Amino acid sequence: MQVKTILNRIQRHQSFVYGPARLVQGARLMLEVEVRPRANSRAKCSGCATLAPGYDTLPVRRFEFVPLWGMAVFLVYAMRRVSCPTCGVKVESVPWATGKHQLTDTYAWFLARWARRLSWKEVAEVFGTSWEKVFRSVELAVEWGRAHQELCGVTALGIDEIAWQRGHRYLTLVYQIDEGCRRLLWIGQERRVKTLLRFFRWFGKERSAGVEFICSDMWHPYLKVIAKKASGAIHVLDRFHIMAKMSKAIDEVRATESKALAAQGYEPVLKRTRWLLLKRPENLTEAQEPKLAELLQYNLRSVRAYLLKEDLQFFWEYVSPYWAGKFLDRWCTRTMRSKLEPMKKMARTLRTHRPLLLNWFRAKGAMSSGVVEGFNNKAKLTLRKSYGFRTYRAMEIALYHALGALPEPRFTHEFCG
Ligand SMILES: [Zn+2]
Repeated sequence: MQVKTILNRIQRHQSFVYGPARLVQGARLMLEVEVRPRANSRAKCSGCATLAPGYDTLPVRRFEFVPLWGMAVFLVYAMRRVSCPTCGVKVESVPWATGKHQLTDTYAWFLARWARRLSWKEVAEVFGTSWEKVFRSVELAVEWGRAHQELCGVTALGIDEIAWQRGHRYLTLVYQIDEGCRRLLWIGQERRVKTLLRFFRWFGKERSAGVEFICSDMWHPYLKVIAKKASGAIHVLDRFHIMAKMSKAIDEVRATESKALAAQGYEPVLKRTRWLLLKRPENLTEAQEPKLAELLQYNLRSVRAYLLKEDLQFFWEYVSPYWAGKFLDRWCTRTMRSKLEPMKKMARTLRTHRPLLLNWFRAKGAMSSGVVEGFNNKAKLTLRKSYGFRTYRAMEIALYHALGALPEPRFTHEFCG
């Protein structure tokens, strides 16, 4: 059987034919397959995609194809130039590659699919290619997917921010969190008013009007933009983000107290208690449980802060917004008397945002609080796996690829399941 028979079976092009294949011994053994235009076929202008009369032919170019038996495979083709009545002299467009890419689209999709399972560096190593080529492939897949994705019927949005570049800079991420469709919709640099306004401009007025629920944290610029651009939606403050803020307050109380105790020469009772105080009791390990029980016997500021935090968890168990509101008010009053400054600050914040907190009960059932938290973890994991993402562009592409649930074209032959 000839190589071209196989190629015709898995990837046939109407206006081109495969010629003979030959083995070439370079640094590695390579397989080169000649490609020629079908007799009497005209070339397609890359500017306007119409068939145009030929002008001349350029030197041969090699397009990398999916490797076979550990050999790199190249399609070898001399691109024609056309004399297009509209665009002038232009290089032709060919169906197996996009723009100036050295990789065939088939190989790029192949690499992009593997890049969902392995890190980009690993993909490059396994297939004997460069990190840069893997990046270009994923970029191609993301661009195609974003151009072809369906954006109708988005009714619930989650807005989140994450730190990158060692916490010096932030990204704003917008997720669709509808029951049947959860995905990353949009990424923007920074977390300013301008950032989120850009999202709404991209998303469009009509689609924004269809959004019924939005959940976000208490970050002021987000609150401002959401009130302006999605005024019809019920805006819910996210439990996950509120409890994360609460953890920070507890950390502060604990750190200050720990220092004060050490200065007074007391036994360091608070040593290695950070996770005991931050974790939910049901998530403690068997070894941690008795330690927490012991710690709770001390009349410590950290312990009082911990008890206030655990008490606030009951807020989300309520069904009626009225009684939840009563509970919240009582919690805030109690906390304001606690003499724990970080906790008092937290109570003041919750008071300010009381209506948005109570929206959680108006949206109940329509919104699951775990979704944004789950995405936040996945996004952080993607960033962590991604040493080598020094540029914003590479990181953006990686996040869309991992979390965007982007569509892919249908192929006659699947090279990678
Ligand atoms: Zn043209």
